Amino acid sequence: MNLHEYQAKQLFSDYGIPISPGIPATSAEEAVKNAKKLGGDGWVVKAQVHAGGRGKAGGVKLAKSIDEVKQYSEQMLGTTLVTNQSGSEGHPINCVLIQTMSDIESELYLGMLVDRSKRRIVVMGSRAGGMDIEEVAATEPEKIHTFFVDPILGIQDFQSRKMGFDLNLNDTQRKQLVGALKGLYSLFTQKDLSLVEINPLIITTSGDIEALDAKISVDDNAMFRQKLLEELRDESQENEKENHAKKFDLNYIALDGNIACMVNGAGLAMATMDIIKLHGGEPANFLDVGGGATKERVAEAFKLIVSDQKVKAIFVNIFGGIVRCDLIAEGIINAVKEVGVSVPVVVRLQGTKVEEGKNLLNDSGLEIISTDDLTDAAHKVVNASKGGN
Ligand code: GDP
Ligand code: MG
Repeated sequence: MNLHEYQAKQLFSDYGIPISPGIPATSAEEAVKNAKKLGGDGWVVKAQVHAGGRGKAGGVKLAKSIDEVKQYSEQMLGTTLVTNQSGSEGHPINCVLIQTMSDIESELYLGMLVDRSKRRIVVMGSRAGGMDIEEVAATEPEKIHTFFVDPILGIQDFQSRKMGFDLNLNDTQRKQLVGALKGLYSLFTQKDLSLVEINPLIITTSGDIEALDAKISVDDNAMFRQKLLEELRDESQENEKENHAKKFDLNYIALDGNIACMVNGAGLAMATMDIIKLHGGEPANFLDVGGGATKERVAEAFKLIVSDQKVKAIFVNIFGGIVRCDLIAEGIINAVKEVGVSVPVVVRLQGTKVEEGKNLLNDSGLEIISTDDLTDAAHKVVNASKGGN
C-alpha cells in the first residue's frame, strides 16, 4: 500500500526527519486558507497522487502569490494526472499539498528498501537527486552509494556518516543526515515499510538538509498490525478491480494485454502468462483463484475479468488438485448467466472431477472452446484474441 506525500511527510515529522511546513487541501478556497496560515511569500502546490514524476507532468507548481496558489489549485483539483509512473489511465487529483517554498542549493537522493537477495534493508544515496534519478541508476550506477543494515545491530552512525562523506556533505549536514537516517530506520522498521524514497533530499540555501518529496510503501502483509496506516488508504488512487478482487481473496493484478486469464495457483498463473506471450499474445491480467476456490469465488473472478473492456478472449486454465473442476465449471456458468460474455472462452481443465466439469460446460449451451493440451489452448486463445477461430 502506498501513502500520499502529505501523509508520508507527517510520519517524517513524527520521526524527526526535517521537512518544510505544509497543509493538504481539497478545494481552492482551502488551499488559499492554508497558504495564508503558513505565511511567507512563496508556496508550492503539489498534486497528491500515488505516482512520482509529477513535476514533469505539471503536478508541482511554484506559486509566488496567493492568487497563484488559488489558480494552480483550481487547475489541478478534479483533474487526472498522468505521469511517466502512473500508467496511461493516471490518477485523480482530489487533494493538493500547499507547502512553504524551499530555496534549493542542491538536490540529492535518499532511499531505503528491503533488498530481498541480501535479506537486509539497504540504504541508497546519491548526489544526483531530483527528477532524473531513474536515468542515473540506469546509466551511471556508480553515482549511487549504498550500505546494508544489520538487522540485529540496526543502523550504525558510522555507516550514515560514511554516506554523508560519499554525498560530500559538510560537518553540519553530515550530523543532520545521521539523525535523519536514524529516524528513517525507526520509521521503516516500526511501521513495516517496504520502501521509502526522498527524492529530492535538498540542501537548502541556508545549508540544511530537508526532505522535499516523500514516498512511502507499506508492506501489504503487515497491514493487519498497522491499523493506523490502513486508515490512510486512499482507494481512489488504487486499481478498482484489484481492490474488488482483494475483497474476495483473489490474487488479481491488472495488466495491459487483451487475453484474460483465470488460473488456479500462482505458479500455473505465471506459466499461463508465459505461454500466452510465447504464442504472440498479451495477458490482460494475472489471476490466481487459489486452491480452495468456491463456486462463488470463481463466479466473482470470472465477472471481474469479463468486466475489463480490453479483453478480446478468455483463457481458463485449471489444474484440479484441491479445487474441483466441476465447481469451476459451475462458477463459470453462473457468472456467464449473470453478466453474459461476448468474447471467445478457451477452457483447459485437468484433474479432479474433470469429466463432470467438462460435461457441465458442454451441457450449458455456452460457446466454449475446450481442449486438454496447454500448448493447444494457448495457440487457440491467442488466435481467438486476434479475431481468428
Ligand atoms: P515529483 O516530480 O513527483 O518527484 O515531485 P517533487 O516533489 O520531487 O518535485 C519535483 C521538483 O519540483 C523538485 O525536484 C524540485 O526541483 C521542484 N520543487 C518542489 N518543491 C520545491 C520547492 O519548495 N522549492 C523549489 N525551488 N523547487 C521545488
Ligand atoms: Mg520527487
